Amino acid sequence: MSFSSRVKEELIPQPLEKPCCVLAETAALTQATGTLGFLGAGRLSVTWRMENAALARRVFRLLREGIGLKPQLHFVEHARLGGRRTCVLTVEGEDAETLLVALRMAEREPDGQVRLRHTSPRPSLGKDCCRRAYLRGAFLGCGSINEPEKSYRLECAAADMGLAQSVQRALAHGGVESKVFERRGHWVVYLHRAQDLADTLAMMGASRAVMELENLRITKQMRSNANRASNCDEGNSEKQVTSAHRQVDAIKLVSIHRGLYTLPPALQEIARLRLEHPEVTLEELGQLAEPPVGRAAVHHRLKRLEALAGEIEASWDKAEEEKHETERSIDA
Ligand SMILES: [Zn+2]
Repeated sequence: MSFSSRVKEELIPQPLEKPCCVLAETAALTQATGTLGFLGAGRLSVTWRMENAALARRVFRLLREGIGLKPQLHFVEHARLGGRRTCVLTVEGEDAETLLVALRMAEREPDGQVRLRHTSPRPSLGKDCCRRAYLRGAFLGCGSINEPEKSYRLECAAADMGLAQSVQRALAHGGVESKVFERRGHWVVYLHRAQDLADTLAMMGASRAVMELENLRITKQMRSNANRASNCDEGNSEKQVTSAHRQVDAIKLVSIHRGLYTLPPALQEIARLRLEHPEVTLEELGQLAEPPVGRAAVHHRLKRLEALAGEIEASWDKAEEEKHETERSIDA
């Protein structure tokens, strides 16, 4: 299974979140896979088409459990395409009106009539939680990731330009830089740096994929640095390698459980540099920073990252203890 499919497999079963996030995710999935239909006599419909049946079930849940609509789900077989199946979800009439108002495509007038204002959702992405849900929806609906062994690249491609723009804005909030271009009638938003890919996966909630990616990056880095390390002064480099290992582990832990993008910029920078250059000394790491900083500042920032990792571990211990407490009190 491709890395891209593994990420989708991790994201699809995740529980539905708050109502605001349900709407954000539905907006993205509608921009990516939905179409607006006119049934005559002012009646509207919204239809989603996708090949991934598990994803269709998630859209069904978003609409039904999340928004309280009654979507219809059916399958279309394509005999000419070797029996490939498309899952089709539809909401019509009043349900379609409710959805269009919720996605800010339509407004309900004082007389109860629903008036269409836009042909595409206007997602409301003011909150961090909703931006994450939106990114997840966009990726599930029209995203793909290259095999990270070859290159670090994630893209979402949709006919709706609004999706590319909203994805770009949501990513920028998380400190991830992305680019938008047009390809055969589709608007493509993409990113292509290892850390940006890891941060985006973390924002979407794909923590297993982040871990897989980080491990791969470290292996790659270690391999390419093997020669360089062997040229170092033996005794000194051994100590250095041990503390660099400890720092990298701490940073990975923070990245997986909090996301590096949640950190202040100075800490983010050092964390990224350390992940990219596990072999260099603190002085060299400081030289790579923008603007360069001294050894003491680098040392201080790495200690703060280790302390954060320590806090995360301590919170696990506490949760574990509380679990035992509860178990003990149940026994008693
Ligand atoms: Zn939200």
